[in-house]
Amino acid sequence: MGKVWLVGAGPGDPDLLTLRASRLVMNARLIVHDGLVDPAILAMASRNARMVSVAKSRSRHTMKQEDINALLVREALVGTEVVRLKGGDPFVFGRGGEEAEACRAAGVPVEVVPGVSAALGAAAAAQIPLTHRDSASIVSFVAGQCKGLTEQDWSGLAGKGRTLVIYMGLATSEAIAEKLIADGLSPDVPVAVIENATRQDMRVLRSPLAGLAALVETNKVKSPALIVIGEVAAREDETMRKLALEAIK
Ligand code: SAH
Repeated sequence: MGKVWLVGAGPGDPDLLTLRASRLVMNARLIVHDGLVDPAILAMASRNARMVSVAKSRSRHTMKQEDINALLVREALVGTEVVRLKGGDPFVFGRGGEEAEACRAAGVPVEVVPGVSAALGAAAAAQIPLTHRDSASIVSFVAGQCKGLTEQDWSGLAGKGRTLVIYMGLATSEAIAEKLIADGLSPDVPVAVIENATRQDMRVLRSPLAGLAALVETNKVKSPALIVIGEVAAREDETMRKLALEAIK
């Protein structure tokens, strides 16, 4: 009997892999990976490792989730130790839960290795504290593209003292801003969009909530990107402004 390792690859920068993840990647015989896993991380694998990409995109599914589950189980049943490498953390919007269930249902041993989720990596890289004594004591992670976006109740997740982080929200950014404003959130709430967090081509863009869709469109923001909504999204700007003012004095 083999085993399935559900491994978090972090947000991009290979330096943000856990030691356990990097050890598993370097020793793997078979790596089944997402499109989000950075090429520099895949390059750490041994030359003899078999690499299987199961990259998905919003419009194009190269492999259905059931087929991915079946592949992991099939390989483990013939004795392979499978490294299933996922962007960020396997259990944050990564469908790792379904893969773990499929393994358990088939009697295949499965172990989960946590990774730095995109929200944490992006916040660190952009110096946006997700919580802050003066600005936020609650933080929520939501998926902007998921089953039944419109029916989801996000009221209370954003606003004073709260930070809302939206994964997969680019394509629906206009609907997201409208939904939050309709729920009573001020159109002036600061928003930061972080594209390619922790990678060399990272961009951090800011606007008030009402300008979110225009910000995404004008700057041609591409996936992967995260949207952070709340006072904390403007803190770094605010600090820079204060420092600039002090420097002038
Ligand atoms: N399991 C992953 C999330 C998978 S969902 C995690 O824990 O991070 C995919 C979404 O994650 C993307 O649409 C994007 O919103 C976000 N994401 C992943 N990597 C990112 C990065 N480097 N920069 C910004 N957003 C990222």
